[in-house]
Amino acid sequence: MDHHFQVRIVGREHARYPSHLACDHGCEYIIQVVTADTDDVLLEWCTLSAEQFAGRLLEAVELSHLSK
Ligand SMILES: [Zn+2]
Repeated sequence: MDHHFQVRIVGREHARYPSHLACDHGCEYIIQVVTADTDDVLLEWCTLSAEQFAGRLLEAVELSHLSK
C-alpha cells in the first residue's frame, strides 16, 4: 500500500466484505481504506475494530522507534 489511499466512513450496509466484518458490537458505521485512483477497498473495519486496530498500529510504531 502506498500513500495514494483515502480513508472514508460509510454506513454498515455499504460494507464491501460484510461477511468478514466480524462485528457483533452493533456498529453502525464502517471505516474503509480505499485506493485513491481505483476506489478499491483495501481494508475495512467496523468503528470499534478500527479503533482497536489503530491502537495496535500505534503501539507497533512506538516500538519501532524504541528499537532504533
Ligand atoms: Zn463493531
